[in-house]
Amino acid sequence: MGKIIAIANQKGGVAKTTTAVNVCASLALMGQPVLLVDIDPQGNASSGLGIDKNQLERCVYDVLIDEVSPTDVIISTGIRNFDILPSTIQLAGAEVEMVSLIAREQILKRALSPLKEKYQYIIIDCPPSLGLLTVNALAAADSLLIPIQCEFYALEGVGQLMNTVQLVQRHLNPSLEIEGVLLTMFDARLNLSIQVVDEVKKVFGNKVFKNIVPRNVRLSEAPSHGIPVVIYDPKSRGSEAYQELAKEVMGID
Ligand code: ADP
Ligand code: MG
Repeated sequence: MGKIIAIANQKGGVAKTTTAVNVCASLALMGQPVLLVDIDPQGNASSGLGIDKNQLERCVYDVLIDEVSPTDVIISTGIRNFDILPSTIQLAGAEVEMVSLIAREQILKRALSPLKEKYQYIIIDCPPSLGLLTVNALAAADSLLIPIQCEFYALEGVGQLMNTVQLVQRHLNPSLEIEGVLLTMFDARLNLSIQVVDEVKKVFGNKVFKNIVPRNVRLSEAPSHGIPVVIYDPKSRGSEAYQELAKEVMGID
């Protein structure tokens, strides 16, 4: 049975999407069947994988609002073992429309549960908010991966995220676990980066992933080519960090 991992942090620009795309691609390259579920209306994961959103007839919106089967919406990324349930800007209206639906927090869980038989990993790329879409992801997930950027105010908002996690555990998904906290955009030349690592380790202890993702320009270039960095430049430091992280997620580090 597959595992559903939500990647969330309501702060924007902390590398949620970069992490979702590259962990999925790394797992797929290791032979694991993976599905990336893009629930950010911005659709950065979808476009970063070279999907032309204007050409899509359906997206995750149709699954959430119109009960279309995900199997009718899922497409291949062109990378073996790696499928995506894409998002388009249409999803921007979903949060408001979902409010009136029955069991609105469990819609994504119901849609994704049957897919655990087909995919070893289902990774959800969340939007930068703690709204109903993120709550749906947390309700559907077995575990949560929290990327934290090695920058000023790194831990700002993380308390609020953890409060939401506790509420979800209490009311919707008691078995939700913390997969791990991922430090991203680390710059070894900066004292600040080193301080953030120390601070995050103090708060999260052994929940912090051993692999830290360095700041690496190849990671920011890859999406404009529509491919993950682990294919765009497999030997780059960013690529190697995500390949090692994928092993850590699989428990083979
Ligand atoms: P989020 O999904 O949390 O908003 P993104 O994954 O879109 O964050 O990352 C924000 C920006 O930072 C993007 O332009 C991305 O390419 C870039 N980026 C992410 N991780 C790194 C990194 N380790 N080094 C350099 N740039 C990065
Ligand atoms: Mg994103």
